[in-house]
Amino acid sequence: MKTIVVGGVAGGMSTAARLRRLDESAEIVVLERGPHVSYANCGLPYRVGGVIAEREALLPHSPASLSARLALDIRVRHEALAVDREARTLLVRDLTTGEEYEEGWDRLVLAPGARPVVPDVPGVERALTLRDVTDTDRVLERLGTGARTAVVIGGGFIGVETAENLRLRGLGVTLVELADRILPHLDPEMAVAPAAELARHGVVIRTGTKVVRVPPDAVETSDGERLPADLVLLAVGVRPEIDLARAAGLVIGPRGGIAVDERMRTSDPRILAVGDAAEKRDALSGEPVLIPLANLANRHGRLAADAILDRPVAARPCAGTSILRVLDLTVAACGWSETRLRAAGRPHRVIHTHPASHAGYYPGAEPMSLKLLVEPGSERILGAQAVGGEGVDKRIDVLATAMAAGLPAPRLADIELAYAPPYGAARDPITMLGHIAENLADGTARTVQWHEVDAAREAGATLVDVRTPAEYAAGALPGAVNIPVDELRERLGEVPPDSRVIVYCRVGARGHVAARILAGHGRDVRNLDGGLLTRRAGE
Ligand code: FAD
Repeated sequence: MKTIVVGGVAGGMSTAARLRRLDESAEIVVLERGPHVSYANCGLPYRVGGVIAEREALLPHSPASLSARLALDIRVRHEALAVDREARTLLVRDLTTGEEYEEGWDRLVLAPGARPVVPDVPGVERALTLRDVTDTDRVLERLGTGARTAVVIGGGFIGVETAENLRLRGLGVTLVELADRILPHLDPEMAVAPAAELARHGVVIRTGTKVVRVPPDAVETSDGERLPADLVLLAVGVRPEIDLARAAGLVIGPRGGIAVDERMRTSDPRILAVGDAAEKRDALSGEPVLIPLANLANRHGRLAADAILDRPVAARPCAGTSILRVLDLTVAACGWSETRLRAAGRPHRVIHTHPASHAGYYPGAEPMSLKLLVEPGSERILGAQAVGGEGVDKRIDVLATAMAAGLPAPRLADIELAYAPPYGAARDPITMLGHIAENLADGTARTVQWHEVDAAREAGATLVDVRTPAEYAAGALPGAVNIPVDELRERLGEVPPDSRVIVYCRVGARGHVAARILAGHGRDVRNLDGGLLTRRAGE
């Protein structure tokens, strides 16, 4: 059987390699429009910053090395132009010679990826994008001409990573984002720390700002600003490359990607599609979704090979687990955000915690903020976000694993996590999330969210700050009385018996103890979830 793979990077090369490992007799042709295959697109921003010093590091495999190992017919600078489904042929152009030819196939795998979105803004052709190694060469070339200032348009993953790396190069960097916050896959209170981290390192951030013009030496914004820009980097999102599929009459899904089933088959079962060009199935809604991430491209590429060989495989629904570094912070997420759950009207319970990465008595512990979203009743994990230093990656991966396994949130407390002081805590942040989830599920704890406090106070709730007087004096919520948790039992009389009470502390732990004391004395009490730290981030 002859398989042609269009696109020789994450998804396409995963299919080709797996196909060969499973079938020594398969005929496999890989067509790649660009000059390189299997390049490390995820490393491109770090090449811009010089963190990856050698260009060759982004090119761990050459067509020759892959062909030698896997006996693949790899043709770089060959573009697939048109699919003839009836004749089962593909029209191909050799971009070096300009020659066009037809190539027959039994199975066709489309893995053409996604291209950067380019908005219709005057002068935008001067902006550079970052998709492949050649793009990185262009950015480095511009830097080599003495660029001192850069404007990065777009505050998503690629925009933020590139802003960081341009800053590391010593450029004056402004990051312009149309939404009200950078990294909008995070909820607002979780996106504050990464923005502050960029600002701390000198990146100027303009949110809620539209770029209206890109003149030769600047970027002009909707609020009349003229931002100096020797270099403009455009990163406002990517769009699936569907031209080939659409022209072939394949079904394009509601999200604008190639529609595939759980065996990666398009509407023509002899044609499969994987990677950024194809839609995935969302883990929560079961609806089609676009998730342009490398792990899924690789995984689905492998599954496509299995499906071609009639192996009994099926892609799982996807949670979109992601991570990125923002200077000294790590930012990670999986599943849905609260913003998305709210927009979809899906019931959810929210948990914020601010634990340390490992036992506080062992040197070097770093703070992190965790957010867990849970479905009331089933206690299913709907999503999670983690922002902080050391150990954020580990916690999001545990949560993503728990989510994939369908572990209810309270059962997080039962996972036996590896522990010694340099690595974690006997009650790991994950264990603590499980405890909180358990308390909320059975009513042992009741919380209010950072954005609900003001309305509760206006409705007559009493606010009790249970921190120390010194902490209280340094800044408290308006109208709050200070009764430190350790004095609460003696000073119960100061808490009005008939009104709802909201207790709070810095992160929510002392507040929980105080809430249990007051509940034990018959009071109607709520603890401020995540304490003042979450509230201040959200304000
Ligand atoms: P691609 O890797 O884009 O490969 C598609 C290839 O198909 C391209 O080389 C293209 O030239 C070729 N092609 C297209 N049309 C044709 C045609 N008609 N004929 C022949 N060839 C064609 N993901 C993560 O999970 N983590 C990260 O940290 C991360 N960082 C990233 C940083 C950057 C700067 C970029 C650009 C992406 C990053 N990603 C990251 C996303 C990840 O790289 C993609 O999800 C993944 O590469 C998608 O694989 P793919 O095979 O679908 O497409």
